[in-house]
Amino acid sequence: MAKKSALNESEGNPQPSNVNKASIQKIRAHRTKDLSVDSIFQGITRGSHTHLSKGITLVESNLPGHQVLAGELVQRCLEHSGKSIRIGITGVPGVGKSSFIEVLGSLLTQAGKKVAVLAVDPSSSISRGSILGDKTRMETLVKDPNAFIRPSPSGDSLGGVARKTRESIVLCEAAGFDTILVETVGVGQSETSVHSMTDFFLLLKIAGAGDELQGIKRGIIEMADAIVINKAEGENLKAAQRAASEFKRALKMYPVKENGWAPPVLLASALEGTGIKQVWEMISRYHHQVVKSGFFELKRQQQNRHWLLQTINEHLKDEFYSNPAVTEALTSQLEAVQQSKTSPFLAARQLLELHKKQSK
Ligand code: GDP
Repeated sequence: MAKKSALNESEGNPQPSNVNKASIQKIRAHRTKDLSVDSIFQGITRGSHTHLSKGITLVESNLPGHQVLAGELVQRCLEHSGKSIRIGITGVPGVGKSSFIEVLGSLLTQAGKKVAVLAVDPSSSISRGSILGDKTRMETLVKDPNAFIRPSPSGDSLGGVARKTRESIVLCEAAGFDTILVETVGVGQSETSVHSMTDFFLLLKIAGAGDELQGIKRGIIEMADAIVINKAEGENLKAAQRAASEFKRALKMYPVKENGWAPPVLLASALEGTGIKQVWEMISRYHHQVVKSGFFELKRQQQNRHWLLQTINEHLKDEFYSNPAVTEALTSQLEAVQQSKTSPFLAARQLLELHKKQSK
């Protein structure tokens, strides 16, 4: 429906000849653009959760127009951001991530902190949000006025999903959230992405799940700043203690981290709420240490460089694969390559050339 404006012609009336429709549209578009980005920005910096949600929706949108507005919004929020600790939390489904975040988050808000929970789950567009999708899993936190929970953006590529979460962090920080928890599933490359957008990377494990070696193989252990064995209670406690010793032994085999931090192994039970306070004390100790040594800032600078390059790569890839001429030619080139009628390198060069020509 048309907005009420002095510039609108009344319904049924003929268009006045002295009114230039195109320029009115231009003025209107400019005004609404400024108004909406500005009002969202103002709302965010006032700490409004509604405006923050709107801002994130803009960041998550794939519409080119929205992407321009989102870029503006992120840029404006940038100078109000950065003053937080960003914590990545990973672990296989069922390990207790949501339960752990619920307890840790509540503990932090009780201590006067503002906690935002975001997620990176590239499978969410297929499974409709396997993590954080079901907010009832964080019953207390979801009702907490000092907490903000946002499920994973959906998208067809991990790069897209991760970039959106990375930008949402900026908005959350501008809204005054001082602790950002980014949850991800312990499968695929999403852990690497979350590692490169957080200051501290926590690996959640359970005893006897048989995935200890898998973690070691995939290099996740190398990324971890701490390992927490969850469900360490009751009959499970002994097994958890054994798993903790195994991990401690395994960690000793890795070279000392660049920042001198030796990743500890802790026990916790999200069900009983035990060990979580100790996890927070350990993270605070790390934070204090790296801020003092300058590593905290250095790591964030390196991450910014990484995201610049990553975003360019993603953008170029998206542009290439969404070019209809390329997708058509790609099908026949793939067939030709499969039947050894042409070399993959020549085919790639030709497709890239085709894309270059098309985008001129
Ligand atoms: P996620 O898939 O990693 O997010 O795991 P959830 O937080 O959804 O937990 C998976 C299941 O483990 C749920 O049934 C939880 O109630 C249970 N769970 C989570 N933490 C604990 C714990 O510390 N001890 C026990 N015994 N169960 C837990």
